[in-house]
Order: sequence, then structure tokens, then C-alpha cells
Amino acid sequence: MRVLIVEDEHKIAQAIKKGLEQETFSVDLAYNGNDAYDLAAAESYDAIILDLMLPGMNGLEVCKKLREEKNHTPILMLTAKSELEDKIAGLNTGADDYLTKPFAFEELLARLRALLRRPQTALKNELICGDLTLNTQTYNVTRNKKTINLSKKEYALLEYLMRNKGRVLTKDQIISHVWDYNSNVLLNTVEQYIGYLRKKIDRNFPSKKSLIHTVRGFGYKISEENV
Ligand code: CA
Repeated sequence: MRVLIVEDEHKIAQAIKKGLEQETFSVDLAYNGNDAYDLAAAESYDAIILDLMLPGMNGLEVCKKLREEKNHTPILMLTAKSELEDKIAGLNTGADDYLTKPFAFEELLARLRALLRRPQTALKNELICGDLTLNTQTYNVTRNKKTINLSKKEYALLEYLMRNKGRVLTKDQIISHVWDYNSNVLLNTVEQYIGYLRKKIDRNFPSKKSLIHTVRGFGYKISEENV
């Protein structure tokens, strides 16, 4: 999952980025409202962590502008003030949740996960495809009840595929949700990682159906049905 952090206090921004990267997110940073807006409009984020007080456009303005343009990326608003009006203003402009500074990283993570879960609340923390399961809370991946060890990138790629089970994803879509802006990712990097996943998910379970499918000319999908 790819997240944009917008925070003008560099130290806080870097700390959140580091924390989220440890949790397998790919993270981009913006230090002012205008850069935040430009990035959010150009890239595909799964969530935006948006500070309220920013140089340039403030957080409320960024949020309002994105929503006016039908950008529905979940937004978690950060505010240094705990006043009721700020929260109400934030939610009225289309933020999905807010967090008052200072906060514990664990709380930020919990709220972020809750936002990412919203479209599929029924699934709770577990993504399932046939006998393959991925727990987004514990990062535990199993097939046929056997634990599969994945690198952070492999996990992030698998999570993105599983959140879009049955849908064909292009390499460009995969790159924009699994890698951050600063990574120099080539299309064949995606092929390479799909290859790693295939080995661990499919080839290591030869008696089981293949779950990762190549849709020639389009991209990849995960599905328990044969294409
Ligand atoms: Ca600020």
C-alpha cells in the first residue's frame, strides 16, 4: 500500500515515513500543501496523511480541492490543535478521520489500517484467495495452512494483488501502488517480483492450483479460478 505523508515538520515526517516503511508501506513525502496537492493529483495513493497547518495551501484546502476533483483517496488529517472546530472543519471538507498531535505511532498505524480496510470491512484483517491467506495485522501469509516467508516488497505486492482479487492489474498500476516515487522501478522489476511470488506461492505447492495468473498484454491477477 502506498501512502503520501504531508507534514512540514521534517523530523515528524521522516519518523512516520520510517515507521510505515517498516510496516511494508511505500511512502512519499510532501512538506507543503502545493506539493501535496500536485503529488496527490498525479500519483495513485491508497491513503494520505495530511497535516492541517502547512505552508502554501493548508490541509483543509488540499483536502477540499482533491474532493472537488473527485479524488476519494482516504485522508487522515493531523492537527496540532484539539479544538472541536478544526475537527469538524476537517471532516466537513472530506477528511475520513483525524488524529490530534502528539500521537503514538501505533495509533496512527491503527487508524491508517482502519481507513484502508473500509471498502472491505467484511474481510476484517484477513485477505483470502482459495487456500492462500494474508493477515494485514500480523503480516502472516499461509497457503494450505503452511507459513510462507516473504520479503517486504513481495508481501506488499501480494497484498496489493489480493486486495484486488480477480482484477487484472497492469504493471504501471502495480508500480504506482507498491513502489514509492523515488524508486527507479522498471517494468521488468515487476516481472521479477511476480516471479519470486510465483515460486513461493505456486511452484512450492505443485499439487495446488496456480493462483497468480499472467494476462498476456494486460498484466497480472490473483484468482482461484483459472483465468
Ligand atoms: Ca504543520
